[in-house]
Amino acid sequence: MNYRSTRGTAPEMSISQAIIKGIASDGGLYVPEKFPQLSCDWETLSKLSYKELAKEVLKGYLDNFTEDELDHCIDGAYTNKFEAEEVVPVVKAGLADFAELYHGPTAAFKDMALSLMPYLLTVSIRKEGEEKTVVILVSTSGDTGMAALKGFENVPGTEVVVFFPDGAVSPVQERQMRTAEGKNAHVFSIYGNFDDAQTTQKKILNDKEFAEEMDKVGIRFSAANSMNIGRLIPQIVYYVWGYLRMMERGEIKAGEHINITVPSGNFGNILSAYYAYRMGLPVKKFICASNKNKVLTDFFNTGVYDTHRDFYVTNAPSMDILVSSNLERLLYHLSGDGKYIAELMDALNKGGHYEVRPEVKEAMGIFAAGYSDENEVIDTIGRLYKENGYLIDTHTAVAYSVYEKYRKESGDETPCLIASTASPYKFVAAVSSAIGLAKEADDFRQIESLNKLTGVRIPSGLKDLDKREIIHNTAIEKEEMKDRIRNEFKRS
Ligand SMILES: *Cc1c(COP(=O)(O)O)cnc(C)c1O
Repeated sequence: MNYRSTRGTAPEMSISQAIIKGIASDGGLYVPEKFPQLSCDWETLSKLSYKELAKEVLKGYLDNFTEDELDHCIDGAYTNKFEAEEVVPVVKAGLADFAELYHGPTAAFKDMALSLMPYLLTVSIRKEGEEKTVVILVSTSGDTGMAALKGFENVPGTEVVVFFPDGAVSPVQERQMRTAEGKNAHVFSIYGNFDDAQTTQKKILNDKEFAEEMDKVGIRFSAANSMNIGRLIPQIVYYVWGYLRMMERGEIKAGEHINITVPSGNFGNILSAYYAYRMGLPVKKFICASNKNKVLTDFFNTGVYDTHRDFYVTNAPSMDILVSSNLERLLYHLSGDGKYIAELMDALNKGGHYEVRPEVKEAMGIFAAGYSDENEVIDTIGRLYKENGYLIDTHTAVAYSVYEKYRKESGDETPCLIASTASPYKFVAAVSSAIGLAKEADDFRQIESLNKLTGVRIPSGLKDLDKREIIHNTAIEKEEMKDRIRNEFKRS
């Protein structure tokens, strides 16, 4: 099977080539030319473990991987790396089923994909005859940096270089990155903001001379952001998994439809749910939930994507985003027209907005969308905890709150699966205040106090974080990023 660019002009690639390349040469994103189909024998699928199901779902996408390679990747990703035995527990609380995607090493859902992607990348590299060490560059505003450091931790043939804005990530996130233990971890804070780091990183990745220079010392660069198709496909698995668990519990019959609600930012997670649907998962509605940065809500309701608006820093910060990169993939799948997508993205780059044509707007009808503000988030966490004894984080609360409103307004009571994207401990200050817990001196004390009150286990990745040894303590100017990379690897 081939992967093609959403913008229609770059050459088609195999999956291993697409994973290595990341972004297509015409600026588009790689998408599968067709969707592999699930065996709809739901009863048989429901007997599989998470890893077995992952193999079943992913083999159609990773069609040039051998059986052994698939096993190697999936075992490496999900054996003993998640603190829940079933990898993704599905918990019924209130009006919905929550797929807890946060039991991985960094306590947020990005671990689901970033545990597997390093294996997909290294196998792809060997397959394409690449002998070099792959250096993954990551600029991060918080969650992705640590998930990449953990996912690639000591994976042979890889090195990870993370740049984060100095003083602009949460204390927990900063401590996680500064104490990263992998022998292949290289972490720097940058005097500047996230955009400075990201822009400089893009320049480095496009610097041909530098690439040649590093090539001579056995280095090849790659990136691990969610535009890489290798980040997207691992996420399909848990939607099928969640469906099967709802079936097992008798909430739905085999083949019956569900709704899926996803707290969305860059649109990667909900797009993976859509891929599951295209593979045969019976879904009636996708409910796209936003915080006050509601560019996606407005888009699904009007067909106009418009980034000219105020940007808010909210208590669900991983969704504070105005340009949702993966929406491009959905629009391609709905229109099938690369030239049209290139025009839309050109309009977005130049003018900051676009409007889709009527057929595309109509095809978007399987999506509903809504948003919730910070007060609604706090209220939702408090209510769900008080009434159901179930604790959720701020991002998941956006989803639940939007789902409640959707259900009331539409009268649609189809059983709903919600993507629960982070441990409540990760956003401990907001969660504590929502359930009326007194404020402690810092986030580390707050984690202990939340644990005492609720009895919910502290993820080991967040435990005793303030007692760990600081390993990475170098702050640099953004102009130094390239030299730092050179220094890190010249000696090897
Ligand atoms: C990244 C993230 C999201 C948003 O996911 P997208 O795939 O970018 O839409 C939601 N919640 C949490 C906790 C995240 O880290």
